[in-house]
Amino acid sequence: MFEKILIANRGEIALRIIRACKELGIATVAVHSTADSDAMHVRLADESVCIGPPPAAQSYLNMPSIIAACEITGAEAIHPGYGFLAENARFAEIVEEHGIVFIGPTPEHIRLMGDKIAAIKAVKEVGIPTVPGSDGAVGSDAEAAKMAANIGYPVLIKATAGGGGRGMKVAAKPADLSLALSTARTEAKSAFGNDEVYMEKYLQHPRHIEVQVLADSVGNVVHLGERDCSLQRRHQKVWEEAGSPALNSAQRYEIGGVVTRALEKLGYLGAGTIEFLYEDGRFYFIEMNTRLQVEHPITEAITGIDIVREQIRIAGGAPLELKQKDIVFSGHAIECRINAENPFTFQPSPGLITQFHVPGGLGVRFDSHIYSGYRIPPYYDSLVGKLIVHAKSRNECLMRLRRALDELVVGGIETTIPLHQALVREHDILNGDYDNHWLEKYLAKKNA
Ligand code: ADP
Repeated sequence: MFEKILIANRGEIALRIIRACKELGIATVAVHSTADSDAMHVRLADESVCIGPPPAAQSYLNMPSIIAACEITGAEAIHPGYGFLAENARFAEIVEEHGIVFIGPTPEHIRLMGDKIAAIKAVKEVGIPTVPGSDGAVGSDAEAAKMAANIGYPVLIKATAGGGGRGMKVAAKPADLSLALSTARTEAKSAFGNDEVYMEKYLQHPRHIEVQVLADSVGNVVHLGERDCSLQRRHQKVWEEAGSPALNSAQRYEIGGVVTRALEKLGYLGAGTIEFLYEDGRFYFIEMNTRLQVEHPITEAITGIDIVREQIRIAGGAPLELKQKDIVFSGHAIECRINAENPFTFQPSPGLITQFHVPGGLGVRFDSHIYSGYRIPPYYDSLVGKLIVHAKSRNECLMRLRRALDELVVGGIETTIPLHQALVREHDILNGDYDNHWLEKYLAKKNA
């Protein structure tokens, strides 16, 4: 096992990784920008290295500085967290070229899954169901029109290099196709420097359901069940549940089995998540995230498995301690993302935290890097904390969430707490009756 790990990230996820390292008896190195000198991850790590000025491009994305920080401190491995360099295949390669272990999948798998068309082709070959679509990049408008007629309208144009919902355009009917193609291409070119697009059938009332997996270096793959992340705004997840209110246990094991067999065939290593759209009882692959996800704690809550600890053990060459039959799903968990934003317009609200009180009690976890007197810098992500609540049943979980949200105080800035307080009282949410479009419609009504 490693003696020292460098965490190439900030915020709550840097803390999360430091905690796992401490419990494994591993020393930690924090890196930080000059804007983060007072950050909690810097305070909690054993050592810290300043890697550059506030803009992420010059600090948290600055590969030479991060590698140098490893060499100065003697860290043997890097945990990238999520975001920043977590899905940068070139970074994973450079880390390995310097004799440092990248805590994550192989660069080949990161690269494969980062190319949407290649990823769809690869997972299809190993038995994962995909959305009916163009089977590769879309060529001329005339070719696209033929494809769309075959697939059936509405169709969705997506960027091959896509991410964060950018470069996606719906064409509801043949007359919309040409404009959808050109705007998707322009957006993709400016966001990703690559204007290649592909086409999929546009599903009209899907849920977002994803399956968490762990795979070790000796060929064991297990799934840790699913998460339902259908409550989204502008393709950003807001509220997540494990398990999905839409699945029963038989369906969970069925899709989990499909995913584990596929990843065995791909020879996948580490933690990963396969994301699906789920509509009318069927799953359709959309993408694979080759990293730790923000919402991983709800899976930890229902399985009792520390996913970061497993990532570190796997990277150190240890086999998984658990077989699939040992993994028991217990109760229900919900995560609310608390952002420094206006709860209904989502205008960012960085600034000074003047008051901070964390809820407690059975089944309540709050992962956050903020403290009273902390000034949120304006340069990074607006996530200030994740409230994770676990209980025996979904109903108990909702009641526990309601009281935990009412206890939580983050003063001095605007946060999304009032949005969650409203959601946890909504009829459709209480019934688990929502799809990917529910939240946008709800917000449109609220803001009308
Ligand atoms: P990105 O990598 O840009 O986030 P994804 O492929 O993960 O793109 O899709 C993001 C979101 O867009 C999904 O969660 C879903 O809400 C919507 N979406 C993607 N593909 C489809 C589709 N074929 N039909 C309907 N909605 C889709």
